[in-house]
Amino acid sequence: MLIEQTGLGAGAASGAARAVTATCPACGYHVAAPFYDGGRQPLATLGWPATAREARAMRRLPLEFVRCLDCGHVFNAAFDYAAVPYSRKPNLMFNRGTLWSRFLDSIRREMLRRLPARPAVVEIGYGDASFLAALARARPGGRYTGFDPHGARAPEGGGRIELRRELFDASRHLEPLRPDLILSRHVMEHLANPLGFIQTVAFSAAQLDLQPLIYLEVPCIDRAIETFRAEDFYYEHNSHFTSTSFRRMLARSGADIEALGHGYDGEVVYAFLRLRERLERLCRWHESTLFHRRAGQARQAISEQLRELLAAGKRVAVWGGTGKSAAFLHAHAGLASGIACVVDSDPAKAGTFVPGLGIEIRFRDWLRRHPADVILIPAQWRARDIAGEMKRAGIRYESVLIPHAGQLVDFFRGAHPYRKRSSSGRRAAAGSGLAALAQALQARPTPAPEAARP
Ligand SMILES: [Zn+2]
Repeated sequence: MLIEQTGLGAGAASGAARAVTATCPACGYHVAAPFYDGGRQPLATLGWPATAREARAMRRLPLEFVRCLDCGHVFNAAFDYAAVPYSRKPNLMFNRGTLWSRFLDSIRREMLRRLPARPAVVEIGYGDASFLAALARARPGGRYTGFDPHGARAPEGGGRIELRRELFDASRHLEPLRPDLILSRHVMEHLANPLGFIQTVAFSAAQLDLQPLIYLEVPCIDRAIETFRAEDFYYEHNSHFTSTSFRRMLARSGADIEALGHGYDGEVVYAFLRLRERLERLCRWHESTLFHRRAGQARQAISEQLRELLAAGKRVAVWGGTGKSAAFLHAHAGLASGIACVVDSDPAKAGTFVPGLGIEIRFRDWLRRHPADVILIPAQWRARDIAGEMKRAGIRYESVLIPHAGQLVDFFRGAHPYRKRSSSGRRAAAGSGLAALAQALQARPTPAPEAARP
């Protein structure tokens, strides 16, 4: 159990329910309060037992609802998505009640008012596709695409509507579809990480310089909380938005909210919004992908240099057998058998073995009796100390190499920032192409900082 409570008769501090550490799906905050302990219950809506016996035998699942202290979102801290059989039992919404239909009509009118004459529309979680179909009927010149791995099959001669029984993936689907509107109704509350989903859509759209209109609609539990309506909280509904947690999730995703309202007597909250990405994140994306590419190139280049050294008959000793040095050896594991020896400054490590490779780690004095031509020091920032240590210990060598900027460089003669004790290394890094890239991106139109938005 995540929630522990002591006896009510105890003192104020010890008698209080404990705070729970759990990640809020709406805002990402990590501390929550116990909210509703429903014990263990079977699935309430997606189980569909065929017989009385089967119904009674259903697996009991934990209802440990907690409330985020930051945004007020309510969620089941013990929820496991794998326990809900969405794939076998579709969760079809009932869309035909009179009041409900009226609400949907008003939302559709609102959407059409904001859309061009021939809109590209994407619906995430289209269900029975009735909402999307009604939109398409109202504005037949558009292109309508629904995504739902458990949605209805496309009708014969579907016309402008394409129903895809797959998950929407912003990084793949946004570019070809270039939607004017992305809508999603009663889906966010089923996702394990709705905040992550919206942030991914925001980022993918920003990469393509798109800013589609977004419509999101979820059940709202403001009234359920006010009136202690505990029966709203069953296993399949693991994540419950309040007006505040919904708004907070959107703010954390960089949303400019154009309209936020409630429907169906306050039981539903919805928003029309546009997502704006921060320049800082786009810069970081470029910086990371550059590192990713360079790291791969460095591995190849260093392997090539190492191969040439070994082919030339050089005896190569690697200084350090754990941590960075082990990671270096793992990265070039194909050549590790050619390494003459692995030594370490720490006598306590002598006699142990390089993880994964099984090369024995020897104390550095091994090199006095078994000299190496090349001393390779993967932990660059220690190289200066190690050079001094080798001098004092009378260890001879031809050269000392360190990996730097994608290749092995000579510690004494090469260009690198580790020879002198100074901050020149940091200055060199800051003056690299990344700073120039950031400057170039700065020249683009700047979105408002997130903190300035509601
Ligand atoms: Zn929260």
